[in-house]
Amino acid sequence: MVVGIAFYDVKGSADIILLAMNLERQIEQYLPQPVLELVKDISGQATKLGQRVYLVGGVVRDLLLGYPNFDLDLVVEGDAVKLAQQVGETGQAKLLAHHRFGTAKLGYENFTLDLATARKETYARPGALPEVTAGTLKDDLIRRDFSINAMAISLAAKGYGELIDPYQGRNDLEHRLIRILHPRSFSDDATRILRGVRYEQRLGFEFEAQTAQLLKQYIPMLDSISGDRIRHELELILKEEQPELAIQRLSELGVLARIAPSLKGDGWIADKFDKARRLKKTNQLPSLHFCLLVYSLSETALEQLLSRLNIQAKLSRAMLDTLHLKTKLPLLDRPSLKPSEIYHLLREYEPLAIQANAIASESPTARRFLRLFLTKLRYVRTVLDGEELKKFGISAGPEMGKILQALHRARLNGEVRTRADEEKLALSLKAINLHADPVKLPGSDRRSTSGPCGTQSEGHSE
Ligand code: ATP
Repeated sequence: MVVGIAFYDVKGSADIILLAMNLERQIEQYLPQPVLELVKDISGQATKLGQRVYLVGGVVRDLLLGYPNFDLDLVVEGDAVKLAQQVGETGQAKLLAHHRFGTAKLGYENFTLDLATARKETYARPGALPEVTAGTLKDDLIRRDFSINAMAISLAAKGYGELIDPYQGRNDLEHRLIRILHPRSFSDDATRILRGVRYEQRLGFEFEAQTAQLLKQYIPMLDSISGDRIRHELELILKEEQPELAIQRLSELGVLARIAPSLKGDGWIADKFDKARRLKKTNQLPSLHFCLLVYSLSETALEQLLSRLNIQAKLSRAMLDTLHLKTKLPLLDRPSLKPSEIYHLLREYEPLAIQANAIASESPTARRFLRLFLTKLRYVRTVLDGEELKKFGISAGPEMGKILQALHRARLNGEVRTRADEEKLALSLKAINLHADPVKLPGSDRRSTSGPCGTQSEGHSE
């Protein structure tokens, strides 16, 4: 029997498409051919082992919505690790198995498949990690966060393509609703508050009334969640196409303030995230978003946040540097600065912190110099190195250090351009008494007119 359902286009247009309860045709059109063949092969092998395999979670939701998602999660009623091992032996997949969790990852050339043994979860206390035992597909679906993520599609030959939807996820998709599966959901796991807002904003859905009320009620339960888990959910939010939507919503709900009292998401954040996105450095974006998110925090508040979220050392350094550099921005707000001065002001800071300030600073001059450093100055190198200076009779030690610094400064300022220029400068510096005076370059009082660093084109002043 084929049953049609009314289904709205998620972008809110009036288009209504019809979908059948058996999704065989949709799967065949949605999944790329090699993935489809593989999934069928896995399911065939499962049948021989007396197991059943289902497509579950986000991919089912997105298939119904017509959104691309090839992050395939398979649930196995049986033993996912055993099945994955067997599939790994016959195919060319790399297998990564976690026997303890009953999960396995099969890595192929262009994609990965996650297989998990259907599981049942019980929470010893709110906020604790759940106790997990093997279960049925239905057990596996009820432990999920929202009805729209709690659907499965059968992949077994018998019943292939059948939608399994015990919690009316399809109906909620149709009505554009985010709904929890039971009233204890947020108290069992308050990270679902962050997840819910992420889906609400990504899909342009609304919380169902009781879900909305319980979400607000259980915001204090976030205190029971480990920093690692909260950080992970924030990272997922910051990887969204428009993370500012969820960040602003979390701020309005008081969720951000619960995580760190002075954390907020407002129009300023939205504007800066938008600017960050235009840089198109997608892999750096979540970290850059973190730096911008804390831009208005005090150093003490930031240190508390870093420790609450257990943020790793490199990103912590970038976030702290963001605030330190912010206090130094007035020094960069001077159009007459020479490239070497800009370089020396900025060289100690994490590039991510410089990038964050280049987006957030109110001063056009400072922004220009920050960008100049990032795009050019930090890459400037001298041609001559210590070994070559030795050939000119300059011995290793303080003298050589000063000459190398002077050569670098001259390069930055466009006062030397070629190897011959550098050699000439090195020899003239050797000739003067380096020990009596700090190195003073011939002509170093002059302001550079056109550096190798394109300072003129960057609008650097004369
Ligand atoms: P995306 O969130 O990017 O669309 P996804 O839906 O696959 O992808 P994941 O974070 O990869 O989401 O999680 C996979 C599935 O696991 C979800 O669809 C959801 O059903 C379930 N899940 C993840 N986290 C939780 C949680 N905290 N509580 C309950 N279920 C969860």
